[in-house]
Amino acid sequence: MINTDPAHVVFLCGIATYLAIRAAFQYRFSAEKKTVRNSTASDRLLIVLVATGQVVLPLVFLFTSWLNKADYTLPAFAIWVGTPLMVAALWLFWRAHADLGNCWSVTLELNHDHRLVTHGVYQFIRHPMYASFFGLALSQVFLINNALAGWAAMVSVTLLYVLRIPHEERMMLETFGDEYRCYMERAHSLIPRWRASPVER
Ligand code: SAH
Repeated sequence: MINTDPAHVVFLCGIATYLAIRAAFQYRFSAEKKTVRNSTASDRLLIVLVATGQVVLPLVFLFTSWLNKADYTLPAFAIWVGTPLMVAALWLFWRAHADLGNCWSVTLELNHDHRLVTHGVYQFIRHPMYASFFGLALSQVFLINNALAGWAAMVSVTLLYVLRIPHEERMMLETFGDEYRCYMERAHSLIPRWRASPVER
């Protein structure tokens, strides 16, 4: 149940910022025409699962007592790990949106003039938005003292990553061919390369 627990306040501010960033980009690019739609029912179900893990269950935990059988106590240092993690993940989430611009979509889609984005945060990793989801999910573990609401996003984001990436990368390979193949050699999926690739050196 929400009280004056600073970790809960940090989490609420973070989730509000997350939703505000999403809404701003959704509003800005909602008129964009999509030519290729690879969205399946299972992909849409994954999106619902991620929203449930990131937003719905934490809000149920914070504003009701329905989940309190799964409550536990977090160590005092947890907020000092969770807060910077959440700030960093929100920054990455915002940058991924800003760099993708009109190429962003909730489901797997391509614009009629889709281009391959390899600048900004995309020069370091291929999936900065999903990396930001993992960062947010990890911060949730450190800020929400509940076995269900604290871990739900980690489970749903892992499912999204494992199940969606093969489809997304196949779609990008079919569309951009060698350009995407070269990009895959330059940039890892979620964690930046330790050294620049030979192409860049
Ligand atoms: N997986 C990426 C993007 C998620 S949004 C990330 O985690 O940052 C999903 C949409 O982004 C897909 O429908 C695809 O059309 C688009 N996309 C993914 N990578 C892209 C890239 N490098 N350039 C342009 N569009 C991309």
